[in-house]
Amino acid sequence: MDEHIQVRISGTGGQGIILAGIILSESAMYDGKEVVQSQSYGPESRGGYSRTDIIISKETIYNPRAEVLDIFLALSQEAYDKYWKNVNENGIIIFDSNKVIQNKPIPIQNYGLPFTETAMENFDTELVANIIALAALCYLTNTVKISSLKKAITAKVKPQFNEINLKALNIGINMAKELELQEGGTSKDKIWHKLSDKKVPTDKSGLKFQKISHIGIAVENIQEAIGLYSLLGFEISNIEELKEWKIKTAFVHIGESSLELIQPTHKDSTIQKFLDKRGPGIHHIAFEVGDIEAKIKDLQAKDIILIDKKPRIGAGGTKVAFLHPKSTEGVLIEICQH
Ligand code: ZN
Repeated sequence: MDEHIQVRISGTGGQGIILAGIILSESAMYDGKEVVQSQSYGPESRGGYSRTDIIISKETIYNPRAEVLDIFLALSQEAYDKYWKNVNENGIIIFDSNKVIQNKPIPIQNYGLPFTETAMENFDTELVANIIALAALCYLTNTVKISSLKKAITAKVKPQFNEINLKALNIGINMAKELELQEGGTSKDKIWHKLSDKKVPTDKSGLKFQKISHIGIAVENIQEAIGLYSLLGFEISNIEELKEWKIKTAFVHIGESSLELIQPTHKDSTIQKFLDKRGPGIHHIAFEVGDIEAKIKDLQAKDIILIDKKPRIGAGGTKVAFLHPKSTEGVLIEICQH
């Protein structure tokens, strides 16, 4: 397997998504890997969404956010439609063909298997579809050893469900083997070569600029600005008030970046001073880094003047620090870490 694999499992509440993530994480630990798992879910009772991300690495994981996925297991239409775009172009999607209808071809290798139907046929319940799917995924992608997966299932499911889950595991593996045959023989490489070819540049130092996080725009009236950007066709986040900064902000989404609309809420706000002096317009550019504390130290060592020598908490709980425009040819630069 690769040095560093980012996996997302997503579906609706009640499908055992989080449990599947826990079992996968545990399996990877048995394999001696570093693992970070995170999860989010809506209200289960209303069949809300459920999602878990698992990062598996041979080395220490510095960025706990799974940003570009290598492997995506989609167990609902909503999950599939929402996240396929987050998958690496060399990555792979496995979906439940009983739950997901492919409306259009997508430019990423993806395979559907009838996990739910198979669970119903064999066990008279959909509850183990998660284990069937997880087993198929692990077999096909070599993410973890099957022996580790078995061990993790036994460790994480209630004893009375151990047997049924181990049976489900075997069924999942058999489904994956069949798929492998359909796809041209028993060579795993044939289906998955793209994945193992992938080389992810990992930035261990956390110093590298990863992308333009956002461009800050000073506005007189945030409601009017939101109206304008909506009219232009953008999607915009809710307004957030940051008392400490004496501002209100809203983010205009553009792919992996955004515009940060900023309205002052007090005459002492630096944004108000900016508006008084220069009128509305571009205020700062923010670059994302992996480790903001390390970056601050690195910049100080290079005699860059910083406005913030320690990160402050900005919109959405992001850590931010500003460089002094004296040091940066008149451009106010923000560095941030999500
Ligand atoms: Zn900003």
